[in-house]
Amino acid sequence: MNSLEFNYHSPKTLDEAINILNKCDNPALLAGGTDVLVEIKKGLRQADDLVSIKNLNELKIIKQKQNEIVIGSSVTHNEVKNSSLIKEKLFALSEAASNIGTDQVRNTATIGGNICTGASCCDMAPVLLAYNSELEILSSTEKRMIHIKDFFLAHKKTSINKGEILTKIIIHISDDQTGVSFLKFGLRDAASISVASVSVMIKFSDKQCIDSRIVIGAVAPTPILCSKASKLLCDFKLTDFSNENILSKVGESAAEDSLPIDDIRGSADYRRKLVKVLTQRAIKIAFERAKYI
Ligand SMILES: Cc1cc2nc3c(=O)[nH]c(=O)nc-3n(C[C@H](O)[C@H](O)[C@H](O)COP(=O)(O)OP(=O)(O)OC[C@H]3O[C@@H](n4cnc5c(N)ncnc54)[C@H](O)[C@@H]3O)c2cc1C
Repeated sequence: MNSLEFNYHSPKTLDEAINILNKCDNPALLAGGTDVLVEIKKGLRQADDLVSIKNLNELKIIKQKQNEIVIGSSVTHNEVKNSSLIKEKLFALSEAASNIGTDQVRNTATIGGNICTGASCCDMAPVLLAYNSELEILSSTEKRMIHIKDFFLAHKKTSINKGEILTKIIIHISDDQTGVSFLKFGLRDAASISVASVSVMIKFSDKQCIDSRIVIGAVAPTPILCSKASKLLCDFKLTDFSNENILSKVGESAAEDSLPIDDIRGSADYRRKLVKVLTQRAIKIAFERAKYI
């Protein structure tokens, strides 16, 4: 088959989708198709069988189950952006979704497709890492849970194996003393791929920062959880959150963890500078959002 010829499958259930994936020699899973169809059209990828999971209702849920928010992998970015539950409980996730592409892209592209591309610039990855998400992955033999920090292996390589489908993203919501932010820098205001992105989570107890995660995106083959910078935040006194010198040191530490490349969107050096600045800004926003008093 040439790259533009393929069999199209529209399974009615997840089991059926997995059966087809296992039977075909060279299948590709299709969610919104905003990535995979572009790659096929450009000849960057070949697939003899496209297996669409876009209409499987079990992958389109957004619900709260006790202290967890469960998001189906085929939920679109606009559904994430507009969900009142997500806006209330996971505001930074809704914010990240609203920064992806255009309305046309957001109406079609899915949260699961975004992270399954494994692209270093995918915007959902940093914020899902900051939220410490877990992923449910289904195959014909098992349903396995994986922590998102173990999901991204290299640029465009994730821990999804042939015959597996990412089904759910699960985020634990702990208490109201947690603040999360997401910032991205692109070359335009809209429909812009990230040159760099940062997501920050800060958690307080008794006016003391007890946990934090600083995650940087688009500046290395995978999103990076900056452990040293995150640890610096945990040692902060409340006044440190408005001290530019101290914030600048955390920004520098995050930038040291980046492994940026030079490309048409920016030089490696420019990206390092962006990480430093975005980290400082994202910390301030997360701090304001954490109701620490
Ligand atoms: C104009 C334009 C603008 C864009 N802007 C942005 C942007 O600002 N930020 C950004 O991050 N991205 C952007 N993208 C990239 C793309 O839209 C997103 O990555 C999108 O979320 C991909 O989701 P999808 O549902 O379309 O994935 P698809 O194209 O359907 O799939 C992507 C990959 O994931 C696999 N896959 C999909 N779902 C699953 C699943 N449940 N389990 C296992 N594997 C799966 C597919 O097989 C494929 O390999 C843009 C794309 C376009 C065309």
